Amino acid sequence: METIHTADALRLAELQKKDAAISGLKTRLAAVPRELEKLEVEFARKKASMGAAREALLDLQKRKKEKELAIAEAEEGIRKHQRELNQVKNNDAFKALLGEIERDKAAKDGLETEVLLLLDELDKAAGADSAMQAELRKAQEVRDAEAGALESSGRALAAELAAAEAERAAQAGGIEKGLLEKYETVRASRAGVAVVPVHEDPATGKLSCGGCHMALTPQKTLDVKKSDTFAVCPECRRFMYLERTIYG
Ligand SMILES: [Zn+2]
Repeated sequence: METIHTADALRLAELQKKDAAISGLKTRLAAVPRELEKLEVEFARKKASMGAAREALLDLQKRKKEKELAIAEAEEGIRKHQRELNQVKNNDAFKALLGEIERDKAAKDGLETEVLLLLDELDKAAGADSAMQAELRKAQEVRDAEAGALESSGRALAAELAAAEAERAAQAGGIEKGLLEKYETVRASRAGVAVVPVHEDPATGKLSCGGCHMALTPQKTLDVKKSDTFAVCPECRRFMYLERTIYG
Protein backbone atom coordinates (compact mmCIF):
# COMPACT_ATOMS: atom_id res chain seq x y z
CA MET A 1 0.00 0.00 0.00
CA GLU A 2 2.25 2.72 -1.26
CA THR A 3 -0.41 5.17 -2.33
CA ILE A 4 -4.15 5.48 -1.84
CA HIS A 5 -5.98 7.05 -4.71
CA THR A 6 -9.50 8.00 -3.67
CA ALA A 7 -12.25 10.42 -4.50
CA ASP A 8 -12.74 10.72 -0.71
CA ALA A 9 -9.26 12.18 -0.08
CA LEU A 10 -10.53 15.63 0.88
CA ARG A 11 -13.34 14.17 2.99
CA LEU A 12 -10.86 11.94 4.85
CA ALA A 13 -8.47 14.85 5.47
CA GLU A 14 -11.43 16.79 6.89
CA LEU A 15 -12.50 13.82 9.00
CA GLN A 16 -9.04 13.75 10.55
CA LYS A 17 -9.37 17.43 11.46
CA LYS A 18 -12.71 16.75 13.10
CA ASP A 19 -11.26 13.80 15.02
CA ALA A 20 -8.37 15.94 16.23
CA ALA A 21 -10.83 18.60 17.40
CA ILE A 22 -12.95 15.97 19.17
CA SER A 23 -9.91 14.55 20.91
CA GLY A 24 -8.93 18.06 22.06
CA LEU A 25 -12.45 18.66 23.41
CA LYS A 26 -12.38 15.34 25.27
CA THR A 27 -9.07 16.20 26.87
CA ARG A 28 -10.38 19.58 28.03
CA LEU A 29 -13.62 18.04 29.30
CA ALA A 30 -11.73 15.36 31.24
CA ALA A 31 -9.67 18.09 32.92
CA VAL A 32 -12.78 19.75 34.42
CA PRO A 33 -13.44 17.26 37.28
CA ARG A 34 -9.73 17.22 38.08
CA GLU A 35 -9.70 21.02 38.31
CA LEU A 36 -12.79 20.93 40.55
CA GLU A 37 -11.12 18.38 42.79
CA LYS A 38 -8.03 20.56 43.02
CA LEU A 39 -10.17 23.53 44.16
CA GLU A 40 -11.75 21.40 46.89
CA VAL A 41 -8.40 20.13 48.13
CA GLU A 42 -6.95 23.65 48.26
CA PHE A 43 -9.97 24.96 50.14
CA ALA A 44 -9.93 22.08 52.64
CA ARG A 45 -6.24 22.73 53.30
CA LYS A 46 -6.92 26.41 53.94
CA LYS A 47 -9.82 25.56 56.21
CA ALA A 48 -7.75 23.11 58.23
CA SER A 49 -4.97 25.64 58.72
CA MET A 50 -7.52 28.14 60.00
CA GLY A 51 -8.91 25.66 62.52
CA ALA A 52 -5.90 26.29 64.78
CA ALA A 53 -6.99 29.86 65.49
CA ARG A 54 -10.47 28.66 66.44
CA GLU A 55 -9.00 25.97 68.72
CA ALA A 56 -6.85 28.54 70.53
CA LEU A 57 -9.87 30.78 71.09
CA LEU A 58 -12.03 27.94 72.44
CA ASP A 59 -9.25 26.83 74.76
CA LEU A 60 -8.91 30.33 76.22
CA GLN A 61 -12.69 30.58 76.68
CA LYS A 62 -12.65 27.27 78.53
CA ARG A 63 -9.81 28.36 80.78
CA LYS A 64 -11.59 31.65 81.55
CA LYS A 65 -14.77 29.79 82.50
CA GLU A 66 -12.80 27.50 84.83
CA LYS A 67 -11.21 30.49 86.58
CA GLU A 68 -14.60 32.16 86.97
CA LEU A 69 -16.01 29.03 88.55
CA ALA A 70 -13.07 28.93 90.93
CA ILE A 71 -13.70 32.60 91.81
CA ALA A 72 -17.35 31.80 92.55
CA GLU A 73 -16.23 28.95 94.79
CA ALA A 74 -13.83 31.22 96.68
CA GLU A 75 -16.61 33.79 97.13
CA GLU A 76 -18.94 31.11 98.41
CA GLY A 77 -16.22 30.02 100.88
CA ILE A 78 -15.79 33.58 102.09
CA ARG A 79 -19.54 34.00 102.64
CA LYS A 80 -19.78 30.66 104.44
CA HIS A 81 -16.89 31.46 106.76
CA GLN A 82 -18.29 34.91 107.46
CA ARG A 83 -21.61 33.34 108.49
CA GLU A 84 -19.70 30.97 110.74
CA LEU A 85 -17.79 33.86 112.33
CA ASN A 86 -21.07 35.04 113.87
CA GLN A 87 -21.65 31.70 115.50
CA VAL A 88 -18.26 30.81 117.04
CA LYS A 89 -17.63 31.60 120.72
CA ASN A 90 -14.08 30.35 120.91
CA ASN A 91 -11.21 32.71 120.07
CA ASP A 92 -9.00 30.09 118.34
CA ALA A 93 -11.86 28.99 116.10
CA PHE A 94 -12.54 32.66 115.31
CA LYS A 95 -8.89 33.20 114.32
CA ALA A 96 -8.89 30.03 112.25
CA LEU A 97 -11.95 31.24 110.35
CA LEU A 98 -10.39 34.63 109.74
CA GLY A 99 -7.35 32.81 108.35
CA GLU A 100 -9.62 30.80 106.02
CA ILE A 101 -11.28 33.97 104.84
CA GLU A 102 -7.91 35.60 104.15
CA ARG A 103 -6.77 32.57 102.14
CA ASP A 104 -9.99 32.58 100.10
CA LYS A 105 -9.60 36.30 99.44
CA ALA A 106 -5.99 35.86 98.35
CA ALA A 107 -6.99 32.97 96.09
CA LYS A 108 -9.79 35.09 94.63
CA ASP A 109 -7.41 37.99 93.97
CA GLY A 110 -4.96 35.68 92.25
CA LEU A 111 -7.72 34.19 90.11
CA GLU A 112 -9.04 37.61 89.17
CA THR A 113 -5.60 38.66 88.01
CA GLU A 114 -5.39 35.50 85.89
CA VAL A 115 -8.82 36.26 84.39
CA LEU A 116 -7.67 39.76 83.45
CA LEU A 117 -4.64 38.29 81.68
CA LEU A 118 -6.89 35.75 79.94
CA LEU A 119 -9.24 38.53 78.82
CA ASP A 120 -6.32 40.20 77.15
CA GLU A 121 -5.32 36.98 75.40
CA LEU A 122 -8.95 36.33 74.47
CA ASP A 123 -9.17 39.72 72.81
CA LYS A 124 -6.20 38.94 70.63
CA ALA A 125 -7.36 35.38 69.90
CA ALA A 126 -10.85 36.58 68.98
CA GLY A 127 -9.32 39.12 66.61
CA ALA A 128 -7.12 36.48 64.99
CA ASP A 129 -10.06 34.09 64.75
CA SER A 130 -12.41 36.58 63.12
CA ALA A 131 -9.68 37.61 60.67
CA MET A 132 -9.23 33.94 59.79
CA GLN A 133 -12.98 33.46 59.44
CA ALA A 134 -13.19 36.46 57.13
CA GLU A 135 -10.32 35.10 55.09
CA LEU A 136 -12.02 31.72 54.94
CA ARG A 137 -15.30 33.25 53.77
CA LYS A 138 -13.40 35.07 51.05
CA ALA A 139 -11.60 31.87 50.05
CA GLN A 140 -14.96 30.13 49.93
CA GLU A 141 -16.42 32.81 47.67
CA VAL A 142 -13.44 32.54 45.35
CA ARG A 143 -13.72 28.76 45.37
CA ASP A 144 -17.46 28.90 44.62
CA ALA A 145 -16.96 31.37 41.78
CA GLU A 146 -14.16 29.29 40.26
CA ALA A 147 -16.12 26.07 40.63
CA GLY A 148 -19.15 27.72 39.01
CA ALA A 149 -17.05 28.90 36.07
CA LEU A 150 -15.50 25.44 35.68
CA GLU A 151 -18.88 23.74 35.76
CA SER A 152 -20.34 26.05 33.16
CA SER A 153 -17.30 25.64 30.93
CA GLY A 154 -17.71 21.86 31.37
CA ARG A 155 -21.32 22.10 30.20
CA ALA A 156 -20.30 24.22 27.21
CA LEU A 157 -17.54 21.74 26.31
CA ALA A 158 -19.93 18.80 26.58
CA ALA A 159 -22.37 20.53 24.23
CA GLU A 160 -19.57 21.40 21.82
CA LEU A 161 -18.35 17.80 21.91
CA ALA A 162 -21.82 16.40 21.19
CA ALA A 163 -22.15 18.74 18.20
CA ALA A 164 -18.66 17.85 16.95
CA GLU A 165 -19.40 14.13 17.25
CA ALA A 166 -22.63 14.51 15.29
CA GLU A 167 -20.79 16.40 12.55
CA ARG A 168 -18.06 13.79 12.58
CA ALA A 169 -20.58 10.96 12.13
CA ALA A 170 -22.13 12.79 9.17
CA GLN A 171 -18.69 13.34 7.64
CA ALA A 172 -17.69 9.68 8.14
CA GLY A 173 -20.95 8.59 6.50
CA GLY A 174 -19.79 10.12 3.21
CA ILE A 175 -16.56 8.11 3.06
CA GLU A 176 -16.05 4.71 1.45
CA LYS A 177 -16.18 1.98 4.11
CA GLY A 178 -12.90 0.18 3.30
CA LEU A 179 -10.96 3.43 3.38
CA LEU A 180 -12.60 4.41 6.65
CA GLU A 181 -11.58 1.10 8.21
CA LYS A 182 -7.96 1.56 7.15
CA TYR A 183 -8.06 5.07 8.57
CA GLU A 184 -9.41 3.82 11.90
CA THR A 185 -6.76 1.09 12.10
CA VAL A 186 -3.88 3.52 11.60
CA ARG A 187 -5.49 6.09 13.88
CA ALA A 188 -5.81 3.54 16.68
CA SER A 189 -2.11 2.69 16.51
CA ARG A 190 -0.84 6.25 15.93
CA ALA A 191 -2.18 8.30 18.83
CA GLY A 192 -5.33 9.31 16.99
CA VAL A 193 -3.58 10.72 13.92
CA ALA A 194 -3.80 8.72 10.67
CA VAL A 195 -3.89 11.46 8.05
CA VAL A 196 -1.24 14.17 7.97
CA PRO A 197 -0.31 17.00 5.64
CA VAL A 198 3.32 16.74 4.51
CA HIS A 199 5.58 19.46 5.76
CA GLU A 200 7.25 21.50 3.04
CA ASP A 201 10.51 23.15 4.02
CA PRO A 202 10.11 26.79 2.94
CA ALA A 203 13.83 27.16 2.10
CA THR A 204 14.59 23.89 0.28
CA GLY A 205 11.12 22.79 -0.77
CA LYS A 206 11.92 19.33 0.65
CA LEU A 207 8.94 17.35 1.93
CA SER A 208 8.69 15.37 5.17
CA CYS A 209 5.97 13.34 6.88
CA GLY A 210 3.79 15.58 9.05
CA GLY A 211 3.45 12.71 11.54
CA CYS A 212 6.95 11.27 12.07
CA HIS A 213 8.99 13.93 10.20
CA MET A 214 10.76 11.42 7.99
CA ALA A 215 11.96 12.96 4.71
CA LEU A 216 10.01 11.87 1.65
CA THR A 217 11.87 9.89 -1.01
CA PRO A 218 11.75 11.31 -4.58
CA GLN A 219 9.11 8.66 -5.41
CA LYS A 220 6.93 9.62 -2.41
CA THR A 221 7.36 13.26 -3.35
CA LEU A 222 5.96 12.46 -6.80
CA ASP A 223 3.14 10.32 -5.32
CA VAL A 224 1.97 12.95 -2.89
CA LYS A 225 1.66 15.50 -5.72
CA LYS A 226 -0.87 13.37 -7.63
CA SER A 227 -4.44 14.53 -7.33
CA ASP A 228 -6.76 12.77 -4.86
CA THR A 229 -3.82 10.73 -3.58
CA PHE A 230 -2.37 9.88 -0.21
CA ALA A 231 1.20 8.59 -0.09
CA VAL A 232 1.65 6.11 2.76
CA CYS A 233 4.58 6.94 5.02
CA PRO A 234 6.92 3.89 5.06
CA GLU A 235 7.96 4.81 8.61
CA CYS A 236 4.71 5.51 10.49
CA ARG A 237 2.15 4.19 7.93
CA ARG A 238 0.17 7.43 8.11
CA PHE A 239 -1.59 8.73 5.00
CA MET A 240 0.28 11.81 3.81
CA TYR A 241 -1.15 14.51 1.58
CA LEU A 242 -0.04 17.80 0.16
CA GLU A 243 -2.32 20.66 1.25
CA ARG A 244 -2.24 22.43 -2.10
CA THR A 245 -3.06 19.21 -3.97
CA ILE A 246 -5.98 18.09 -1.79
CA TYR A 247 -7.40 21.53 -1.09
CA GLY A 248 -6.28 23.17 -4.36
ZN1 LIG B 1 5.54 9.23 8.92
